[in-house]
Amino acid sequence: MESVFVEQALLAHGWADRVRLTVAADGRIASIETDATPRAGDQVLTGKTLLPALANLHSHAFQRAMAGLTEYRGQQRDSFWTWRELMYRFVGALTPDQVEAIAALVQVEMMEAGYAAVAEFHYLHHRPGGGAYDDIAEMSARVAAAASETGIGLTHLPVLYAFGGAGEKPLSGAQARFGCDGERYQALMAAADRVIAALPADCRLGIAPHSLRATSPGLLKATVAHFPGRPIHIHIAEQQQEVRDIEAWLGARPVAWALDNLPVDERWCLVHATHMTADETTRLARSGGVAGLCLITEANLGDGLFPVEAFLGDGGHIGVGSDSNVRIALAEELRLLEYGQRLGHQARNVVFTEGQSTGRALYEASLKGGARALGRDSGALKVGAYADMVTLDMTALALDGRQGDRILDGWIFAGDDRLVSDVWAAGRHKVKDGRHVAREAVEKRYRGVLKSLLAA
Ligand SMILES: [Zn+2]
Repeated sequence: MESVFVEQALLAHGWADRVRLTVAADGRIASIETDATPRAGDQVLTGKTLLPALANLHSHAFQRAMAGLTEYRGQQRDSFWTWRELMYRFVGALTPDQVEAIAALVQVEMMEAGYAAVAEFHYLHHRPGGGAYDDIAEMSARVAAAASETGIGLTHLPVLYAFGGAGEKPLSGAQARFGCDGERYQALMAAADRVIAALPADCRLGIAPHSLRATSPGLLKATVAHFPGRPIHIHIAEQQQEVRDIEAWLGARPVAWALDNLPVDERWCLVHATHMTADETTRLARSGGVAGLCLITEANLGDGLFPVEAFLGDGGHIGVGSDSNVRIALAEELRLLEYGQRLGHQARNVVFTEGQSTGRALYEASLKGGARALGRDSGALKVGAYADMVTLDMTALALDGRQGDRILDGWIFAGDDRLVSDVWAAGRHKVKDGRHVAREAVEKRYRGVLKSLLAA
């Protein structure tokens, strides 16, 4: 049993002073006392504020290694699709060792940014050319090995990627490494299930049909029916071209098609529901599914702006993810979520919850949506939930003298993730004084991988 004492904490019902919190061996919060006094054996978190930690709901870990390598303009106007070509070339030769090293670095960076958990949307399954590894879930095992080393709470999402484009186009080139038909996907999931079962009990396995364009209606519906009770993530409407292609093929815009044809509910996370009509926005909000927003990546790729104000007004659930991992920065992700809306609406404080500051409203919405998307019993400091927790350093200038919601506003709008001091994932205390305990070894390995990738 681990116990902490802190002067101020954000609990499920709001801010509380002099909080003593204990964590059981299963990683869940066993007790919370307020107006308490520290006891012998407590870790006294002097000069810190304790918050529930976010789950990062969308990541492709391997893309971290190409961060900052696609920032030049080609011969024509650059777009998501030219970025994707570069990404395909880059992944052509990644080995399992390299994937594990990159995933570990990404998880260390996420935890140092204040995330306790991640949904890894994992599609690099096979050997170059598409042949299976001896263990069909070799690459999933490498992501899991990284999670075992870093202690992050992992919701692993093996991706079903069956077609190269809308209308059941065949896979081409680099896509061969992603490819699964229905049967191969079931074999992959069975093997991945054994891999994830060996991780701590908070780690889970979900499914991820890549997108409407990379599946077919029949295969998609059959796959969803075959894996009941698991988180389901899908890329849905990231690009206007994608919306036009799906409309031409299936006769409906992607979000409308999904809501009409799939059992979208609270198990679902629709990533990049960027391009929606007002009707799609309302219907998705009412479905209970989470809209997965990846603000830094969406800005980097020029995707567009999600209709946050209308979606939240209809009771929708949102969470944030770092997607391409071009930059892993929690406060910046939330700041950009709000700032995109301010620029779009020419207004301030757009994300709004009665009685809360904007920073608090952004943080609380992302806590709940992230936990829901990962199928993770977290998102608030309350007895029985996993102890996903983060502390901020109150001696930092951006937080000096602040109380309550202004702490979150200071972190998100005036500071950055250097304010993060400690992080626990289901009680695993892995970030201390702003640094992950495995940072040195993980970074050293990653530098070796980068060197060989850049030389290739
Ligand atoms: Zn993605």
